[in-house]
Amino acid sequence: MDLQDKELQAGETVPVVIVGNGPSGICLSYLLSGHTPYLSQDLEYLCEGLEGRSSNPVAVLFDSLLLPDSDFGLEHTSPLEWRYEPERAVPHLVLGKGPPGGAWHAMEGSMLTLSLANWMELPGLKLKDWMSDKRRNLRNDRATPAEIASYYQHYVSQMSLEQNFACGTTVTSVTRQPDSLDGAPPCWRVTGLQRREGEEVPFSLLAHNVVLATGTHDIPARLGVEGESLPFVCHSFWELEAAICRGELVQSSDPVLIVGAGLTAADAVLAAHHLGTPVYHVFRRSVTDPGLIFNQLPKLLYPEYHKVHQMMTQQQHRPPPPLHEHAQNPPSSIRSPSPSASTTSLSSSYSGYLSFPRHRVLRFQHDHKCVLESDTGVRSVVQVSKVLVLIGAHPNLSFLDDSGRTLGINPDEPVSCRRNPIDVDPFTNRVVAAGGPGMYAMGPLVGENFVRFLKGGALAIASDLAKRQSDERNEVILTKCIIPLQTCFTA
Ligand SMILES: Cc1cc2nc3c(=O)[nH]c(=O)nc-3n(C[C@H](O)[C@H](O)[C@H](O)COP(=O)(O)OP(=O)(O)OC[C@H]3O[C@@H](n4cnc5c(N)ncnc54)[C@H](O)[C@@H]3O)c2cc1C
Repeated sequence: MDLQDKELQAGETVPVVIVGNGPSGICLSYLLSGHTPYLSQDLEYLCEGLEGRSSNPVAVLFDSLLLPDSDFGLEHTSPLEWRYEPERAVPHLVLGKGPPGGAWHAMEGSMLTLSLANWMELPGLKLKDWMSDKRRNLRNDRATPAEIASYYQHYVSQMSLEQNFACGTTVTSVTRQPDSLDGAPPCWRVTGLQRREGEEVPFSLLAHNVVLATGTHDIPARLGVEGESLPFVCHSFWELEAAICRGELVQSSDPVLIVGAGLTAADAVLAAHHLGTPVYHVFRRSVTDPGLIFNQLPKLLYPEYHKVHQMMTQQQHRPPPPLHEHAQNPPSSIRSPSPSASTTSLSSSYSGYLSFPRHRVLRFQHDHKCVLESDTGVRSVVQVSKVLVLIGAHPNLSFLDDSGRTLGINPDEPVSCRRNPIDVDPFTNRVVAAGGPGMYAMGPLVGENFVRFLKGGALAIASDLAKRQSDERNEVILTKCIIPLQTCFTA
């Protein structure tokens, strides 16, 4: 959609603008387009003893209704019945930098997803049905990010949501408009740039409501150590892929140093290992730490991550003990890892890999040397070809006042999915510190990192908008489902 057309219609205020076109934005667009869930079963019965893996009650409720008992691997029919009621539709726009699907277009396409595939489907289109139409099969009930990205793109056209989507659009500012004297409802000004025929064209819109659905994968987290900006130090998986494509990493290369113990770091270990490139793997936790993601995943479902955990455990570098209490060992140089060198494993099956648990990076040097330090203070120096720092990412809310800093649960810290999500009302997803009505947030921005649960945020927002609209019209329109879904938790 061309946003310039919107600007030309002077005086028009869009009821809802959604910033972000990932699964959050797509799911909300579906609900706002008039697709309404009705219950074909007794809600009270379904709610009894409801608990789940999200701390958000609406997310748990909606998930239980969309995918009953899916935690037990069961595929019960959903008691929800979807009806298309165009008279309920709320005009809205979904703005996003890339194609519909958000972060899924930026992930390494061939790995398997962490979640079971149906957990990532959106209402009204079974992922399995779409896969079988494409004559593809799920491996272990899991899909690849490339398949999920393609499913989301297909979903938008299949559900006729395209006319609401303006892709290639970057929002650069969202500001509160001063209240008008004529009593018109307050609104937000949304400005940005839209890519059109190779050019960036500015746009500016007025909206009564703005939904922040921008995910949290925009700015890679940094270690904050000396030398981190050197050209051989990278912060995204894509840079590893690009280096592989350019033929820069081969078996005879110096090792790649991978920093981090999350799933993206694990994917990078697997990719480099598959290529035969030697790997040093540095992370702060111990391999047995219960907080380590690998200690939380069932081995049978996630064999590839189990393999990485085995590598991390079996092929550890063991630093020599400190000389004595007050003396610092001179840093020891580590030779490139081989099955026989510096490992604790007798039958070392993962040649070329060496892990450094409970270590941190002290600095990167111009000569491609990296200084590491164990938690007991012992330093080691490793010679590397490339470094990949994969320790998470932060949301980019630079389009908001003070980069949205004041919106977090702790307003003194930057917003982050795990540590400091945006503070929202759990039943409406309204942003508590928005400085005015009509600002909502959803998805990882409010701590809901899994697609399975972010759908609850879409329900909460659609429900609140419907309620506000009917309040504004001074009508009592009790929807058969959405309002009862809320009241059963607030009562
Ligand atoms: C490696 C990896 C593996 C994952 N595996 C799983 C998994 O197995 N299962 C699961 O459920 N979840 C998984 N996730 C999490 C999943 O990506 C998120 O739950 C989901 O994508 C969040 O959806 P969203 O729509 O809120 O945000 P996103 O998918 O991040 O989409 C937001 C979009 O908004 C765009 N945007 C940002 N700022 C602006 C702006 N100013 N203007 C316009 N557009 C903007 C972004 O470019 C992005 O495309 C994984 C994430 C990663 C990184």
